[in-house]
Amino acid sequence: MTSADVGLATASGEPMLPVPYRIADRVVETRDSVTLVLTPAGRPLLPFLAGQFMMLVAPGIGEIAISVSGDPAAADGRLVHTIRAVGAVSTALHDAGPGTVLGVRGPFGTSWDIDSAAGRDLVIVAGGVGLAPLRPVVLGALAARGRYGRVVVIAGARTPAEFLFRGELDAWAVRNNDLETELTIDQPAVGWDGTVGFVTEPLTRLSLDPQHTTAFLCGPEPMMRFCARVLLGKGMPARDIRVSLERNMQCGIGLCGHCQLGPILVCRDGPVVDWELAEPLLSVREL
Ligand SMILES: Cc1cc2nc3c(=O)[nH]c(=O)nc-3n(C[C@H](O)[C@H](O)[C@H](O)COP(=O)(O)OP(=O)(O)OC[C@H]3O[C@@H](n4cnc5c(N)ncnc54)[C@H](O)[C@@H]3O)c2cc1C
Repeated sequence: MTSADVGLATASGEPMLPVPYRIADRVVETRDSVTLVLTPAGRPLLPFLAGQFMMLVAPGIGEIAISVSGDPAAADGRLVHTIRAVGAVSTALHDAGPGTVLGVRGPFGTSWDIDSAAGRDLVIVAGGVGLAPLRPVVLGALAARGRYGRVVVIAGARTPAEFLFRGELDAWAVRNNDLETELTIDQPAVGWDGTVGFVTEPLTRLSLDPQHTTAFLCGPEPMMRFCARVLLGKGMPARDIRVSLERNMQCGIGLCGHCQLGPILVCRDGPVVDWELAEPLLSVREL
């Protein structure tokens, strides 16, 4: 889906007007992260695509961009978001219990466009909370498994306790016949017999077919930069490496300019862009 399509989709509603959604379920993921399942408490929003984001409003506190972490194909009107508490708004959303009504605007931005990778191998690399926006890619690939070649998931966290979706990750890890999953933590930890090191380590060991692979990266910017460098070193073209960018977003629809990054507005032209576009923008130091 192009940003022009997204513009049309949001313009058909009222993109600046939050609509009420109720927290139907709240799942604690880690010490500072939860997954919220939201159901419409009024007019539902338009369907979303994997990789897009919503603006979530904590009433009386503020509004922030949060990606969808649920499967678009299985949404059934619900929105699923995974939120790490880092400041005032994310903490208010994190702390909100079932039954609380939040405001939601969206969906906004570009998608991972997993359909365009049909017939190719998928390499999905997530760092920390970056697994949240990538979860719909994995779920989409598993739901249409025959459409893709190899599917490789590499997920990293600082400690074993900081993996999101731990039960799901463990289930993916034993699914050896159609999914290759490697989990890695930054430092050795008691009780962890898996990989230790940054996600770049398993990625460096991975042998892949560079002309027939599409990569999806999400996590802190240095992580995406190092991973992209590894993939380029393996011969992958920059256009086949997709990343999700994060910038301070306010309007979400390309009007206010807060998320400007060089010539692009990340809310409108991103958050998902290919490395050919992202690389020169991320190598410029922002003042
Ligand atoms: C397109 C997009 C999608 C996003 N998806 C998600 C998501 O799925 N889940 C999620 O938890 N967050 C996501 N974020 C990040 C989220 O929007 C920010 O965490 C949020 O804006 C912080 O607002 P706040 O008021 O809680 O904290 P603020 O008061 O704005 O920030 C508090 C402190 O945390 C720091 N901070 C801000 N953002 C982050 C961050 N992402 N990581 C670490 N430190 C940070 C700030 O520099 C500041 O020091 C996304 C951002 C974008 C742009």
